[in-house]
Amino acid sequence: MARKLVYRFGFGKAEGRAEWKELLGGKGANLAEMANMGIPVPPGFTITTEVSVDYLRLSTVPEGLFETVRESLQWLERGTGKQFGGRENPLLVSVRSGARSSMPGMMDTVLNLGLNDQTVRALAEQSQSERFAFDAYRRLLGMFGDVVLGVDRALFDAPLHEARRRVAKERGLALPGDVETLTRLIPDPVLGAADLRQVVEEYKRIIREQSGQEFPADPQTQLESAVASVFESWNNPRAKLYRSMHDIPDEWGTAVNVQAMVFGNLGDSSATGVAFTRDPSTGERRFFGEWLPNAQGEDVVAGIRTPRPLGTAGAASGTSLEEMMPESYKELFAIQAKLEHHFRDMQDLEFTIEAGKLYLLQTRNGKRSARASVRIAVNMVEEGLLHPDEAILRVDPERLEELLFPAIDPKSKNQALAKGISASPGAVSGHAVFSADDAAACAARNEHAILVRIETSPEDLHGMKAAKGILTARGGATSHAAVVARGMGRPCVAGCAALHVDYAAGVMTIHGADGSVVATIRQGDLITIDGSSGHVYQGVVDTVDVELGPEMEVLLKWTDRVRRMRVRTNADTPAQAEQALSFGAEGIGLCRTEHMFFNEERIAAVREMILARDIPARELALAKLLPFQTQDFTELFRVMKERPVNIRLLDPPLHEFLPREKAMIAELAATMEVSVGQVERKIAELFEFNPMLGHRGVRLGITYPEIPAMQVQAILEAACTVQKEGHDVHPEIMIPLAFSASELRAMRGIVDRVAGEVFERRGVEVKFKFGTMIELPRAALLADQLANEAEFFSFGTNDLTQTTLGVSRDDAGSFLPVYVERQILPADPFVSLDIEGVGELMRIAAEKARVARSEISLGVCGEHGGDPKSIEFCESIGLNYVSCSPFRVPIARVAAAQAALRRTKKYWH
Ligand code: PEP
Ligand code: MG
Repeated sequence: MARKLVYRFGFGKAEGRAEWKELLGGKGANLAEMANMGIPVPPGFTITTEVSVDYLRLSTVPEGLFETVRESLQWLERGTGKQFGGRENPLLVSVRSGARSSMPGMMDTVLNLGLNDQTVRALAEQSQSERFAFDAYRRLLGMFGDVVLGVDRALFDAPLHEARRRVAKERGLALPGDVETLTRLIPDPVLGAADLRQVVEEYKRIIREQSGQEFPADPQTQLESAVASVFESWNNPRAKLYRSMHDIPDEWGTAVNVQAMVFGNLGDSSATGVAFTRDPSTGERRFFGEWLPNAQGEDVVAGIRTPRPLGTAGAASGTSLEEMMPESYKELFAIQAKLEHHFRDMQDLEFTIEAGKLYLLQTRNGKRSARASVRIAVNMVEEGLLHPDEAILRVDPERLEELLFPAIDPKSKNQALAKGISASPGAVSGHAVFSADDAAACAARNEHAILVRIETSPEDLHGMKAAKGILTARGGATSHAAVVARGMGRPCVAGCAALHVDYAAGVMTIHGADGSVVATIRQGDLITIDGSSGHVYQGVVDTVDVELGPEMEVLLKWTDRVRRMRVRTNADTPAQAEQALSFGAEGIGLCRTEHMFFNEERIAAVREMILARDIPARELALAKLLPFQTQDFTELFRVMKERPVNIRLLDPPLHEFLPREKAMIAELAATMEVSVGQVERKIAELFEFNPMLGHRGVRLGITYPEIPAMQVQAILEAACTVQKEGHDVHPEIMIPLAFSASELRAMRGIVDRVAGEVFERRGVEVKFKFGTMIELPRAALLADQLANEAEFFSFGTNDLTQTTLGVSRDDAGSFLPVYVERQILPADPFVSLDIEGVGELMRIAAEKARVARSEISLGVCGEHGGDPKSIEFCESIGLNYVSCSPFRVPIARVAAAQAALRRTKKYWH
């Protein structure tokens, strides 16, 4: 049977269904589902993603597509009683993109197709409004010119502004210098039919001059070229950037929805709006949204008119939809409840009321802040809509970091300058910049930028990504800025009406209630925004870290029930360990002892040890370090109590502890009572061309066995002390950078000798484990040999990535980003594990290790231990635990639980 290219929906039924998102795109599949549920949607049809994939590959549509489209149009004509291109009762259609996964505003849309010089008259007659008809026509010309014919969209502004100026003059108003104020003075609804007729002629002229062709009057031509252009918009730069940021594959392509137009701008009984079934910022269960009477959808999101609240709660009298159109509100309220229940997730809806009749234009799972995602998932379990396992899978672990975003310090005395809408949570300070490019430039200088725009558009995406926060003067909680910022996890204050931004001058002024200027902020000045409260401040305001919140605590408890892998933390200090424990860490997976050597008192002894001429001198210096190390470990064991504490012996090359600057070298020589020349000679001696592959890790222990001896003594003395205090401590002694069993045997000899001495002296024995990091390919390949000497392995995936790919972790910045950008590598392998290469070595090592020692404990302590995709891989090879930085512990708990759930294949989403 021939492949079906088009799926129809409307008039109470549909050929598609919600599950077919791969084929019909998210929008098309959900329109079909709504039609099947008996929810009123404007009828239409979806051209499948398969068609778009073919088109993008072959630059031509599959055979028979446009015949099928024509037949479907006839079906639409029969159902609506209108004719496409008809001179009496014209059918107008929209053409919209709709990918599998929603990409809000990233691709193109063309509305009002079917209008031309003849049908516009019929529409005027039918709607009894010439103004409405010509407004629809000029919108078509503008969108078609931009999307299909590639005319610069900005050119279409001039005729509109010209019309505004004419009207202002006619009314005897003083002409403002900037178009901003002009648009506010003469908004679109003030322009009359004659003005718009003229605008239409101007638009046609612009199209002719800029594209070298006439706007096609033939509706079928309009439709076919609009469909092709929407397919092509899959590959526009902002769509590509959005996909790369959200891991959406380039091969998916987009479906295209052709739908009968309904108009929210047909007069006072018409309206349009957007709604969320729950609050997308906080997750609170309340029907929430915005609407505008006598308006088209784009008016709500564009922020030119300030949208009104849907419900009466908190709304000024005479503004809410509930009050102004109670029947439609009631119907909409019932539909949203039905949709949320049906889809078992928070929905983001678009609706239009045309002359009193309600239509749903779209429903999709709503984008939400990380906090809202947790709250909604947990609440839906409490409401019986979800199983706890499903709730766990609903949360994107990567985004949980947002829950830890700082908030304004409640003790701060700073007064806010202005308040906008709290669009995306978190407080952040930075330099005010007024363009996306400036935000990117600021980020390139490693400075924090707050991107300030009148409103944002998809062209600003790269600047929004580069900025630490986003502030807009216009637009509501559903504006582009709000939706995109929330998706990216950037704090955002939107619709801050007190702002007046002058792009040309690079200045924003903030106005008080009486209109007077209360602050002037220039490009580069520091400001603070609080996306949780909507406040804007001058300068830098102190912030404090926030708590996870009660719902997160509940969710994390659920994750602990399904997780197989343990979650430990990388912590070098008791404070870090405590922080990690508060996030649920179950042990320390890596304590890097070198970090303990850097404070002033200790570094002197470390340097003395390095510069020592012979073993007794070195032992003398080490004896000075011993009490410090013992104290460090005692405190760590006291915090961690019975939990495992993995301590790695000294790893970095010794020269890292020596000074580089002349003055410091001289100072060191003086305190050590040696000559400057002697110090310089030692530094020169320790110089290495490639220190990462040089004298470091276990090699230090082999050449200077006194160093591990001191560290092991400190660890075990501390363990004895804390065990005597009544805690059943579990120290683990870890050898870095080993590649052979014989290195481990040499180290084990030292450890056993020192342990015997300490236990004898202290009169107690502490059970401890001896093991190694796996950081070198040779170690992974000979894991069975190493496992004979080691009771545990911890994969040091930072070094293992470096040594497997032959890519220096310190020098990769100059070429790795290009590799990722050109998709030579799917991601930065130092962030997300190179599963094919490094992962394969880990798999081999884990298998061989278990053959040699079945009860061996296996973990990971490289940065990948906190990366959800890498965690999923660790689950697949059966590691016992992952270890990550304290702030990533909640992320790792969720990711480990999700990995365990997915492995059972009980849930596929
Ligand atoms: C590693 O190499 O993965 C590791 C954890 O050690 P470090 O980052 O200290 O080299
Ligand atoms: Mg390492």
